[in-house]
Amino acid sequence: MPVTCGNRLAGKRRLEDMLTDLGEIRRRGEKLRAENERFRRFMKSHDVPERRLRKIAEAIQEQIDCTACANCCRVATAEVTERDVEKLARHLNLTPAAFRAQYTARDDDQTLILRRDENGCVFLNGTECTVYEARPATCVDYPHLVRGSGSIASRMWQFIDRASYCPIVFNSLEAFKDHLRFRRSK
Ligand code: SF4
Ligand code: SF4
Repeated sequence: MPVTCGNRLAGKRRLEDMLTDLGEIRRRGEKLRAENERFRRFMKSHDVPERRLRKIAEAIQEQIDCTACANCCRVATAEVTERDVEKLARHLNLTPAAFRAQYTARDDDQTLILRRDENGCVFLNGTECTVYEARPATCVDYPHLVRGSGSIASRMWQFIDRASYCPIVFNSLEAFKDHLRFRRSK
């Protein structure tokens, strides 16, 4: 079913209107979890304007400085492909086997991920990625809102958790709801 969008400005967010405090995002993201689940079902059952939603997310992503945040590097695991391993190994002057042994681990599903310590990814130093030019493809595309295969609606399941730690995702979902005039929980 097609949805009636709000006016063209309804989904616009300026940086000063956005929530960027990570503690508050965690609290609000958790509080809004049930509403966001309902929003995911709403997106799935309606004909939502993909291009417009992408533009809204792009505008939000452009305004948020990931290099000053790095919260995903603390919270989420980073999957690595063989291509990532080769690129990172070359960057660090290691063989792929040595890189795998030193810097990777397996998650519960046996997926190869970057090793982590108590601060998050092993390559994180403060808010700096120490292998930035060679970082894995998943890190380049994170949070996979603007860049990702398939429609945003079909990937909404990924964003419920991310809304509680990623400012781009949190603010984009809130802007999408405004734009689509989604009925919020009281
Ligand atoms: S490789 Fe860099 S961007 Fe990717 S999770 Fe680690 S610190 Fe973050
Ligand atoms: S993708 Fe999200 S959580 Fe990661 S650094 Fe950017 S704003 Fe922060």
